[in-house]
Amino acid sequence: MKTIGMLGGMSWESTASYYKALNEGVKSALGGLHSAKICMVSVDFEEIEKLQHADDWDSTAVILAQAAKSIEDGGADFLLICTNTMHKVADQIEEKISIPILHIADATAERLCADDIGCVGLLGTRFTMEQDFYKNRISESYGIEVIVPHETEREDVHRVIYKELCMGTINQQSRERYLDIIESLRERGADAVILGCTEIALLVQQDHTSVPLYDTTTIHAEQAVSLALSN
Ligand code: GLU
Repeated sequence: MKTIGMLGGMSWESTASYYKALNEGVKSALGGLHSAKICMVSVDFEEIEKLQHADDWDSTAVILAQAAKSIEDGGADFLLICTNTMHKVADQIEEKISIPILHIADATAERLCADDIGCVGLLGTRFTMEQDFYKNRISESYGIEVIVPHETEREDVHRVIYKELCMGTINQQSRERYLDIIESLRERGADAVILGCTEIALLVQQDHTSVPLYDTTTIHAEQAVSLALSN
């Protein structure tokens, strides 16, 4: 079994979901007392969040590349960056390490392609919904149309991520707001919706809506387990 590298802490609420999913995945594949081999570095999210909102992505890349190097030195065979947003600096991290990064947008897009999804809605931080690094990777490399919520909807999605989900707060009103936004993406043509922030599945799950949801945390973890168990 390969050792999975986890660059976590963004936020730790979702890193905990990853840790559980990776171990459950290995257990269900191998049985018995099997569990995932993991090497993790977990950063202080307050530092990262301040730099994100100050638009200082280069400084986030320095911190994350250093953490990634420690993960590689600790024996990981490949790396998961356990957040969608910070894939914005995935190339800068990749330059500093020699193990491969399992890209969260690729893992998700491959699943969408397998299910023949032609148009998908995207929920995530403002950075993920509004900038090109994530949407373009899915539309240009996989030919899937990506649509995002309207401005006021994006504001709410972003606020709930940072002010509630990353702080461990699950609020029913926010869930209803998210479900309305998911419905409006469907009305605008989305065949499915990407939960493109690793905390969103803490708030919204498939049994809340008939719109097919693609949870990036689950998909990323499942791909990591397959890779860890492949020859
Ligand atoms: N975990 C979130 C994501 O998947 C947001 C936190 C962050 O900015 O990294 O984008």
